[in-house]
Amino acid sequence: MTQETTFAAGHQFIDGRYRQGRGGEAKRVNPATGEVAECIRYADIGDVDDAVTAAGRAYHTWSRATPGERSDVIHRLASELDKRAGQLAAVETAQTGKSIRLSTRFDVPGTVDNASFFAGAARQLTGLAAGEYGAGGTSMIRREPIGVIGSIAPWNYPLQMAAWKILPAIAAGNTIVLKPSELTPGTALLFAGAARDAGIPDGVINIVTGTGAGIGEHLVTHPGVAMVSFTGSTAVGRRIMELASRSAKRVHLELGGKAPFVVFDDAGLEAAAHGAVAGAIINGGQDCTAATRAYVQAPLFDAFTARVAELMDRVVVGDPADEDTDLGPLISHTHRDRVAGFVERARAAGAKVLAGGYAPGGELAAGAFYRPTLVTGAPQESEIVREEVFGPVLAALPFESDDEGLALANDTAYGLAASAWTRSLDRSLRAGAEIQAGCVWINEHIPIVSEMPHGGYKASGFGKDMSAYSLEEYTNIKHVMLGRDKSTHKDWHDTVFRQRA
Ligand code: NAD
Repeated sequence: MTQETTFAAGHQFIDGRYRQGRGGEAKRVNPATGEVAECIRYADIGDVDDAVTAAGRAYHTWSRATPGERSDVIHRLASELDKRAGQLAAVETAQTGKSIRLSTRFDVPGTVDNASFFAGAARQLTGLAAGEYGAGGTSMIRREPIGVIGSIAPWNYPLQMAAWKILPAIAAGNTIVLKPSELTPGTALLFAGAARDAGIPDGVINIVTGTGAGIGEHLVTHPGVAMVSFTGSTAVGRRIMELASRSAKRVHLELGGKAPFVVFDDAGLEAAAHGAVAGAIINGGQDCTAATRAYVQAPLFDAFTARVAELMDRVVVGDPADEDTDLGPLISHTHRDRVAGFVERARAAGAKVLAGGYAPGGELAAGAFYRPTLVTGAPQESEIVREEVFGPVLAALPFESDDEGLALANDTAYGLAASAWTRSLDRSLRAGAEIQAGCVWINEHIPIVSEMPHGGYKASGFGKDMSAYSLEEYTNIKHVMLGRDKSTHKDWHDTVFRQRA
């Protein structure tokens, strides 16, 4: 099945069928060449209404399926995704510009593993044991799905983000309408087709494509949507929360990040330098957990930055479809120019650029490419250290004491992920406890596993993706109490209205 034949019927997946959107037409540009790759007819708000209606209808039966029944079809979905691994990787690379090695070895297997995990986790929803917590009554906990989930996803990991949003929601018995980024709808649409072929009933998963202003806000405020699950920038997350607040709708927000990478003076220099390059340039640095601020204890600073610059200079930037390419283009020319702007302004303010800091020319000139970049000498207060650049750019700053290093790591609005590099158990434990982030890696940066939660502190949002914790996001807890005291006037009634002759 090619992408063209799959989407010939249109770029919407509603009630188990691909169909043409009724909104405006947009052109998707290949970021590696700057050429138009595809025309997409977006959904209009009527299409969103259709998708929410289909999801609402499907909810009645899907929410009542047993965990075992839901688990069976999600298992089959994992194998349908696996069968399509080559196609998914190719489409993911074509639409984002990420290297085919990353799509093939990270995005696709991660997605298949996520589906396998949630197939199992669907059967593991637990709560308090039933019991008599008050006199005369037996209490039990029911964990129930919420309803139709409206979900909105970003462009950086379109397939994995679709999986992270859809899988826990449906494993818990909800149905979903997902709006992927308008820049990258392809793999979410393929995911939905795989789900249909796996036997997931029509209407359980719906994909509508279009912009945030065009259809995203309509989805968020739709009265048929019970909860909004959003991954994207902090600015848009705030807007979504504001919109959802009008009907006191439940929200789950996975927002931006500005991960610190703290190198103590007893760290293995080679390991830290390799970890920093991989952690900073993964997915073109367009990763909410990417290493962006390296704080390096003074004795190691010069050696660390020299080695990172040397390794960055060796990174192969080029055609993302080439197996030998380490780094493809960024998502768009506009975004590349935004990234370059941060570096230019830092340079103009006196920072040094030890590696990269430019868009390669020659045969890559037409694409949205940018070399891996290391910046030193930018102060803690500068925008390149404080704001989300979302490109392959690492800013390095020295620190003296451990207290200072950890304080600098925490001196940010964000709190999604962080790492600390040290051979000391005390420093490892201290960093793990004191860095305010949803994930702290020690002597590692980036690896994620389906069993462990992903989610932010502070302006990086709240709620967890992946792991059993994400199932909690998509369920309501209900207390059911069975009164067992058969008397008509119970003891506690006497507190409210005394029994009188
Ligand atoms: P974005 O916030 O611009 O867009 C995300 C999604 O929101 C898109 O689908 C977009 O169409 C939609 N949207 C935009 N405005 C909207 C509105 N007013 N109402 C409803 N929907 C709207 O983010 P992006 O540029 O696509 O992605 C990059 C951002 O995502 C970065 O900030 C990154 O850190 C973040 N991100 C976070 C995580 C995480 O797990 N915390 C994961 C990946 C990406």
